[in-house]
Order: sequence, then C-alpha cells, then structure tokens
Amino acid sequence: MTNLTRLEAEARSALIDVIGYRVALDLDQGVATFESSSTVRFTCAEAGASTFLDVKPQRLQRVTLNGVAIDLTGFDGERVELSALALENEVVVTATMSYSNDGQGLHRAVDSADERHYVYGHTFLDAAPRVFACFDQPDLKAPYDVSVIAPPEWIVLGNGAATRTGVGSWALATTKPLATYFFTVCAGPYVSVTAVHDGIPLGIHARASLREPLERQAEQMLKITAQSFDYYHSLFGIRYPFGEYHQVYVPEFNAGAMENPGCVTLRDQYVFRGAMTHDEVLTRSSTISHEMAHMWFGDLVTMKWWDDLWLNESFAEYMSYRTLCEATEFTDAWVDSSMARKPWGYAAERMPSTHPVAGSPAPDAQSALQNFDGISYAKGAATLRQLIAHIGDPAFISGVADYLRSHAYRNAALVDFLAAMERASGKDLQGWADAWLRTAGLDAISVETATEHHLIRSATVRRTPPRAHPADRPHNIDVAGFSRGTEVFRLVTTVDQDEAVLSELVGKPSARMVIPNATDLTWATIRLDAATLAAVPAELSAVPQAQARAVVWTALIDGVALAEIDPRHLLAVLATSWASESNQSIINRVGVLMAQRIIPEFIPVEEQDGAYAVMAKAAALMLAQAEPGSSRALMAARYVAATSAEEDLLLGWADGEQLPEGLAGDSDFRWVVMGNLARRGAIVSAELDAALDQDRTMAGNLKWLQARASAPDAPAKVWAWEQLTGEHGRSNYELNALAAGFWHASDQEVLRPFVARYFSDVPALAGRVGEDALARVATLAYPANLVEASTAARSAAALERGDLTASVRRAIVDADSHLREALASRAVFG
Ligand SMILES: [Zn+2]
Repeated sequence: MTNLTRLEAEARSALIDVIGYRVALDLDQGVATFESSSTVRFTCAEAGASTFLDVKPQRLQRVTLNGVAIDLTGFDGERVELSALALENEVVVTATMSYSNDGQGLHRAVDSADERHYVYGHTFLDAAPRVFACFDQPDLKAPYDVSVIAPPEWIVLGNGAATRTGVGSWALATTKPLATYFFTVCAGPYVSVTAVHDGIPLGIHARASLREPLERQAEQMLKITAQSFDYYHSLFGIRYPFGEYHQVYVPEFNAGAMENPGCVTLRDQYVFRGAMTHDEVLTRSSTISHEMAHMWFGDLVTMKWWDDLWLNESFAEYMSYRTLCEATEFTDAWVDSSMARKPWGYAAERMPSTHPVAGSPAPDAQSALQNFDGISYAKGAATLRQLIAHIGDPAFISGVADYLRSHAYRNAALVDFLAAMERASGKDLQGWADAWLRTAGLDAISVETATEHHLIRSATVRRTPPRAHPADRPHNIDVAGFSRGTEVFRLVTTVDQDEAVLSELVGKPSARMVIPNATDLTWATIRLDAATLAAVPAELSAVPQAQARAVVWTALIDGVALAEIDPRHLLAVLATSWASESNQSIINRVGVLMAQRIIPEFIPVEEQDGAYAVMAKAAALMLAQAEPGSSRALMAARYVAATSAEEDLLLGWADGEQLPEGLAGDSDFRWVVMGNLARRGAIVSAELDAALDQDRTMAGNLKWLQARASAPDAPAKVWAWEQLTGEHGRSNYELNALAAGFWHASDQEVLRPFVARYFSDVPALAGRVGEDALARVATLAYPANLVEASTAARSAAALERGDLTASVRRAIVDADSHLREALASRAVFG
C-alpha cells in the first residue's frame, strides 16, 4: 500500500493546479463493483515535466493523457505516471472499482430488515482513489461535476445539488473548489425529510427501514441545524457557501460523522429506533453542530497538509459546544465535554503515543491518521478556550473571520491562523503557542489550604509539568470552595508559576471541598487535596453546579488511572452520589466508564461482582426515584439491565413482563437485558437466535453477534473468534460487535488461550480490513480484561515485530498503556 508523503505532496502541488474534475459513476453494475470515469483538467508549471495520478481500481481499463492512451502494463495498482505534461492537460481514466464493506471508499451495505442495498462514499483520509482517479491531497482543490447512474428506485445525493435527469440517471450541480477527501456520493432507496431554512434547502435521509423514527426525530435534527446556521452566520459574518445542506444517516459508518460539503454523512445509530435519552440527543446535536462548523473550518478553508488536521477538529469541537450552550436548549453542554471528551484526551496524554496538538511531523498521510485522537479534538478545544481567555472573545471571533476570509476556497496552516489571531489581538502569541500547541503533555494542578478557626490561613496553587514534556503553560482557571452545598468562595486566577500563593483566599471561610478548575476552562490533571478527597462521598451531590461536579468526577477517574486514588474510593462515591446526580451527561458517562473500564480492569476479579452490585443497586434507586417514562428513568433502567445479577428480574424483562414505563417493545432495551443474561450464561444460544428472529434488523444482528460472543462457555468463544478472524466477509460493524463481546467470562481460563491468538490473528486482518476500521477492531479485540503481566509481556513482544500495520501498532501501544495503568493500580491498591 502506498502512502503519500508530505514531500511528494509538496512537489506535486508546486508543479500542478487542478482546474476541475468531471466524475461519472455507474452504480447499476451489480453488488460487487461499479464503473468510474474521471476527467481531470489541470495545468502544469513546467512543460515536459512528470507527475502521478492516484487511482486504486479493481481493474484499470483505460487512461488517456491529452488524447493519447497511456501504456498501463507497469501499473502498480495505485499510481499512474503522467509524463511529458503540457502547460494545460486533460487526463481521462476509466476503471472498475470495488465496493467496500469496511466504511472506506464507496461502502455498500445490505439492510437485513428488507434486503435493500445502500451506498455511501467516505473518502477521508486517502480513500478517494478507491472511488475515482484524482490528485489525492488536501491542497489541490477543484470544482466537481458529477453524474451518477443508479438503479431506478434509488435516490442520489452528493456535494452538489442532485437532479434526476432520466430513469436512474442523476446530475449533481457543479461544486465550489473542494479537497478530494470531501468527495461523497450517497445512493440507495434512502427516505428523506426536507425543509428550507433561511434560503438553504435542507435534507435529512436514512434507510427505508428507519423511516418511522427518522420522521419522528427529523424536527429536532432540523431545529439544531437551523439554530447552528443562524449562530454561525452571525458569528463569522460569512454565509454557508455550499448550496444545499444534506445530512445522510448511513449504515456501518466508522466515525461519528464526516463533514462532506453539502452532504454530511453521519452514523445511523443516531436515528434512535427505540426510547432515547436526553444525553443521546445532546450527543447527536453536538455532532450535527460540529459538522456544520466544519463547513467554514475545514471545508471553506482547508489545512495545507494533514499535520494541521487538529485545527479543523479543535475548532469544530469547540464551536459545537459553544453553539449548543448559546443557541440551543442544551445550555449545559460543556458538562458533556468535561465528561465525554476530556477524559478521552487526558487518557491519550498519558500514553507513550502522546504528541503536541500541532506541529506533529506527519511525514505521510497514514502517520497523520494515527495522531488523530483525543488530543486533536479535546485538548485542541480546551486550548482554544485558553486562547480565548488569553486574548478575549471579541479578538478571537474577529481573528477567525479574518482567517476565513483571507483563505476562503484555499488552504492555510497554523502560522496563518496564529497570524490572524495576533492581528486581531495585538499580542505576540509565539510563546503561548509553543507551550500550548507545540509541546505535548498536561500539567497537574492542585490547591493546598491550611485553615485555622474555620478560616483559610494560607493557600498555595501548584502547577506540575510532566517531566517528559516540560513547558511553561499559563492556565486561566477558577478555584471554588463548597461546604454542604454552599459555594463558600470562588477565585478567578492565572496560574503561570509552578508554585504561587493565593493570597486572595486568606481569611475566607474554609471549605470542605476545594475544587481547582471548577468551571473546567483549562487542560490539566486536577489533584484534589486529601481533605477534599475524603469529603467527596458525603459532599459531592450537594455541589450546586454540574460543571464543578463533573470536574470532581474527572479528577477521581484520572486519579484512579494514575494509581493515585483507590478504585474502591471511586466506587464509594458512585454509591453515594450517582443515583442523585441530576445532570444526565454525568450519569451516563460515569456509568459507561465504571461498567466498561474501572470495574473490569481496575477492580480485582474477585471483587467485580460486588462492584457491579453496587452499581446495580444505585441504578435501581435512580429508577425508583425517577419520573416513570422520563429520560432519567430510561437511563437508570438500562444500567439496571446491564449490571444487575437478579436473573428473575432480567428474564421477566426479556419476556416483556413488568417493564419500566415506555420500554414495552423496545428492541434495544431488550438487547441490553439479553446481553447481560448471555454474559452470565443464563440463556443459551437458541434463545439469542430466537431474539434475533424477532428483530431481523441491522441493529438486531449486531446485538445478537455481540451477545453470542459474550457467552462464557468455551464453544461460544471458539465460534466467536472464528467469526472474528476467519474469512466470512463480515462488515466493519460486525467485527466490532464480535470483538466487543468477546472478552467476557467469569472463568478467565476460558479466555486465556485467545490472548496469544489476538497477537497473531488480529494483525493478519490487515489484508482484508481497511486501516481505519482495523484500528477500531484491534482496540476492541484487545484482551484488556486480562490484567496480567503476561498480557503486557505479549504486547511488548508484538511491538518488537516489524510486520504490524500503523493502525494495529497504534492500537496495541494504546491498549497496552491502558493495561499497564490497571496493573499499576492493582500493585498499589491490591
Ligand atoms: Zn470533525
């Protein structure tokens, strides 16, 4: 597999400019392949020079350059050499391409509900040549004219507005200049809801079998879309530039969504077929708003090379939360960022693979993809918040508008962004950018107070930079004190030394809990002082601001990961504070982290049943206290269903008996119940098969696979491993489901034989599964629950090998780092 290097990209963009693409796709050629014709007009700075065109076909039929056929006998499967170029050129490529089932290129999925087929294009990061011949790099932007032949009952959508020109034939309007990685075509018997907002035609689309929930939920999706358009228009002063705006909820999508101009693709689990929680709708709304921010940041102005991809993502991440808080009903969305996004980034910072937000070398496209993680999103967004605290919001917004106007329809780099911010603020930002953007790592921040007669006698704030990545990062933070639910003090300050006296706090009343970074404005590990840590179980639920409570939860979770806090203490906080928590982002994110990481990895095996019982009891209390049928009740019911050991209750729910209100006939809820029963060995595979018969959908199929894989007996594991690693043509999502279910069994002897097989069989999937999809499979399939030195030793041995692909290597590095955190915690706390 070739992998475009930065040097190759620079040389090519110095030599050529693309005038335009004409792409014709014939999707009516059966289920395996499609026909692709690509006409590229481009200029060349130097007559007689050579370059290459990217195309990854199943069969390359014909290539002509300026009307002359090129001899293809030496074609390497990926690059066509173009030599003796004129000053103006036209290359025409016709090829037969393969559909994919790993979410990259032109993905084709079959809906098991009705056997209908759906196609969507995902060309990020370097998959465009799997769809059409092109110069595949982000800084060769050009307009597109696309035509599509499709089965007559399909609709076609793409970057330009689609018009049906005949039976099964479609033409898409000429686009503005776009980078190749934004190209998409979505085609199939999709169903649609359309609207117009402020002159912009809007469309929302999903599989036909999702028609009912799509139509029920479209109003909320359209509302967020309209609110986000209004907000961005007023903030940037630049109207949405890409014509129509379609959002296509597509099957088996690897990421959350992709910001293709005019035609965003989103994972279709966001169309909730059953009951949905406030937290789920918030997450979907944040994704909608995030992709819309990209229309300006990323799409209108695109990074010159992949090393600045972070700038797109930091900005979209920051803007989506800002928009939710300021322009929609989700006014406390930053709490979700604290709970759902920042722990992801903090975990990434603790790994050996950590890297600066900006300035990673990214010598080639694939290495850029490996660095596309929680640091690019969560740390980048937190860094932008620190930038705003540093230069002020008006300067930030005017700098953004300046940046967007100066580079519209073209490309830019970090230096251009910083220059715009310096012009707008009148400040030199080089030192700030070096510390925050060009240096990896996160500081630890703590506040120590000494008290006398219920008053603070002295207070000190400490900033501890990581030894491996020293830097002088200034932090704009606040420090708040709480006693029995009353805010005793709050101090806004800048921490720009490793130790400083907080003289403003001297003489203030002492507080039972002192929370540094209480509004979560900065990026740091928060170390709670010993008295606060001891007070958390009794005091946390009374703290009035959800944002401050979220900072405490995150500090506890980080403390456990760093082997500084006993995981049993976190469990004690859960027992006292989770059921009464009012913020649903906190409830859900704490629940997920506890059930999926803290208990199975940090709590010793013999204590895990007891820990799940604590969770199940708290969830049952939450359910009993919640308004029946409410979002909160639904969330609580799901946690009872996932963690309870009461098999009679679970079996009754599986049969539809005495279900909590609103959950009758809810297939997703039933699968949560069935999943727990399957893991416990309380139902047999025939019962799971019967459940699948009652839910013959794509979602049902995945839940069935996961539940089958999670059954605790040896034959189930043998079957699941063979399904995961054998040649069954399984889709990316099916592999994920099998991997996610696999490592469950109360008797770990059943699992142990598969540890060695992970390191041989999963890397071997590389030939069949694309890198993007394989990264997820390799992470999910890692034996994280076998927290043993031998697992770490096997990881280390695997990383010595030279045959791992970049994404498998990165998945093992990161999973191994997680495992070592759990080993370190168990070494300290038992
Ligand atoms: Zn994004």
